[in-house]
Amino acid sequence: MGANSSAVQTKEDAGDMADQTVTHAGTALGVSNLEVVYNEVVLVLRGISIAVPEGQIVALLGANGAGKTTLLRAVTGLLDVHRGRITKGAVELFGDDITRADPAVRVKSGLAQVMEGRRIFAELTVEENLRAGAMAAPSSTFDDNYRRVLDLFPVLSARLRSTAGYLSGGEQQMLAIGRALMASPKLLLLDEPSLGLAPRIVDQIRDIVVQVNEQGTSVLLVEQNATMALKIADHGYVLEHGRIVKDGPGEALLEDKDIREFYLGMGEAGRRSFRDVKTYRRRKTWGS
Ligand code: ATP
Repeated sequence: MGANSSAVQTKEDAGDMADQTVTHAGTALGVSNLEVVYNEVVLVLRGISIAVPEGQIVALLGANGAGKTTLLRAVTGLLDVHRGRITKGAVELFGDDITRADPAVRVKSGLAQVMEGRRIFAELTVEENLRAGAMAAPSSTFDDNYRRVLDLFPVLSARLRSTAGYLSGGEQQMLAIGRALMASPKLLLLDEPSLGLAPRIVDQIRDIVVQVNEQGTSVLLVEQNATMALKIADHGYVLEHGRIVKDGPGEALLEDKDIREFYLGMGEAGRRSFRDVKTYRRRKTWGS
């Protein structure tokens, strides 16, 4: 790895990131000081700032309930459906403010999401799923995108007429990614693509994400599988209780002691929160 763990910033190191504004030049996605509430009362995101620079893979790590899916909903514009609302902050896509934009406008601006749980159309064939993914894109892009997807996923090209619901979990995840790629996204949001998949399949998905990125698509990868995500991420953020508690280059985070304890199961900290460990360490250090 050769990563320098000093490159990792914590809130203690960097000051309050909630007050920080992300710069957007060459930025695919910029989220600044974002606050989100559900049902007008439950504050779930508490001033989040993250950036996905164009051409990069950025990982967002966090335990269950940290707010990862909520952040994605704020980016795609689907908070309303869940009775959620942005109460503060901004979301920018390739420099344009999309904080209040219609979801369809965001898609047209180059955003695509692969939702958690591989929400493919189970009753449709593989080919029909891919065609559905192309509906929002200009018809002139269909042939190139279709070829690209079948090249990326030979397993899909062999099963074009199969009913999607009968594919394996890994194949369904590939189909979900392939369907998103049919819209020629410039920024791809992936919500826990490794969830429930065997390690061998996770490796395949990881390699595909790298390939998609190398073909020019910026990626925000939301994952609980920190090893998978940080190995390929240019930069990573750790989200806990609606706040970013740590960020740094992917390789540096992989080497980071707190990350190793909490996300890679390599410490003795058990299941306490990331914040608890930091407090514990401070107490130990300061003898209080
Ligand atoms: P998971 O991996 O379990 O999905 P997550 O990090 O994606 O976790 P979110 O789904 O964003 O977390 O949830 C963050 C918090 O917001 C949780 O406490 C959750 O209970 C709450 N929450 C999510 N959706 C709603 C909703 N529609 N109404 C009220 N609270 C919600």
